[in-house]
Amino acid sequence: MNSLVQFKNNIVPNPKAVVLFIDMNSFFASCEQQENPMLRGKPIGVCGNHSNGVIIAPSIEAKLYGVKTGMRMPEARMLCPHIISVEPKSAIYRKFHIGIMNVLRSYSDDVIPKSIDEAVVNLTSYKLVYPDMDKLANQIKKDIKEKVGDWLQCSIGIAPNTFLAKLATDMQKPNGLVHINAQNIDEVLRKIELTDLPGIAERSASKLRRAGIKTPYEMRHTSPQVLKKIMGGVIGYYWHYRLNFAEVDFYSNGYKSMSAVRTLSQQQRNNPKELQDIFLSLCMKLETRMVKHHFFCKTIGFTCSYQNHTGWDTHINMTRPLQDGTDIYKFLSQKIMDAERERNFTLFTPELRTIGVLVNHFITDKNIQYELFDNNIKRDFLRKTVYDIKDKFGSAKIIKAVEMREKDIVRDIIGFGSVKDMYN
Ligand SMILES: [Mg+2]
Repeated sequence: MNSLVQFKNNIVPNPKAVVLFIDMNSFFASCEQQENPMLRGKPIGVCGNHSNGVIIAPSIEAKLYGVKTGMRMPEARMLCPHIISVEPKSAIYRKFHIGIMNVLRSYSDDVIPKSIDEAVVNLTSYKLVYPDMDKLANQIKKDIKEKVGDWLQCSIGIAPNTFLAKLATDMQKPNGLVHINAQNIDEVLRKIELTDLPGIAERSASKLRRAGIKTPYEMRHTSPQVLKKIMGGVIGYYWHYRLNFAEVDFYSNGYKSMSAVRTLSQQQRNNPKELQDIFLSLCMKLETRMVKHHFFCKTIGFTCSYQNHTGWDTHINMTRPLQDGTDIYKFLSQKIMDAERERNFTLFTPELRTIGVLVNHFITDKNIQYELFDNNIKRDFLRKTVYDIKDKFGSAKIIKAVEMREKDIVRDIIGFGSVKDMYN
């Protein structure tokens, strides 16, 4: 897959490419309504922490009252007194996500899920198969209703690249279908604000305004060099290309960080040996993911929470990039032991509720300066070879000793919004 990654993103503009972006509307809330017909047509709020917590997903009906994601339930009740609070059930969101991906994959074998409720479908090589993309988009909506759930709605955007297709889905919600193409792009970009572009926050917008660029339309017609200067780096180039039909986002890995978290059972909490095993297996899990995506991390972190809702975390900025799970484990363990000694406390107690490991500041394995840490070349290469063989012959054939323990222990928790690792 990595060789494909190199080719799919391309800064050469291709206004004739066709990319379809699909965004499920109020996904978690709609899934709840799909599962429980009593909730259909009613304002509901999927709400993490019982009935007074933060709403992670209001239903389409609740949004009409002004209820927004991130609002606290009591605040939402002032706007919509009869709002129903529903606890999140990630298993059903995953089930519907997989159903939707199966629908999309029946139309193109080039489908990338971007999050649990978004996906991008490359249709460039299917133009002869689907001469009418509107018809295809409507067929996809119909299939989702018939094969996955009749309460599920989506907004579809069609454009020559992933970025513009996503922008198109944002323009009509719910149940939208919007095209952006060479004919209408200037008209579209004239009508919206800089901050309407996904990825442009107020800070970048004010930099652009100070430089005299007031709309996305003007941004599109500014040279890559000038945008680079204004935005302070190569991201300026990418903005020019995005708005001019080059594909720079299709295969973005989307990872800013990766984490593996485990909620502990009563029995695990009371067994220090098992806690260490789980900790190590979380590190190995992240190693597997980093190898799969061909990157190393420069920051590693550990986080835990206790029954009484307190928590503790730490992180280490590494001088050399890491990928090896046992290295991550070793460095974090050392840091934890130092902290325990310094502050005279014990981290792994029976009060522990969750432990998690995270890695970020990624660099791709191609950019690693091997001469900086020569003696690791062999080990990195060996690890890569082990995983390549696993890819070819299946994981069962070669399992590193530590992973043997991991197998029974770790069941990965998929965070909301993140689906990238469901496909391991
Ligand atoms: Mg959505």
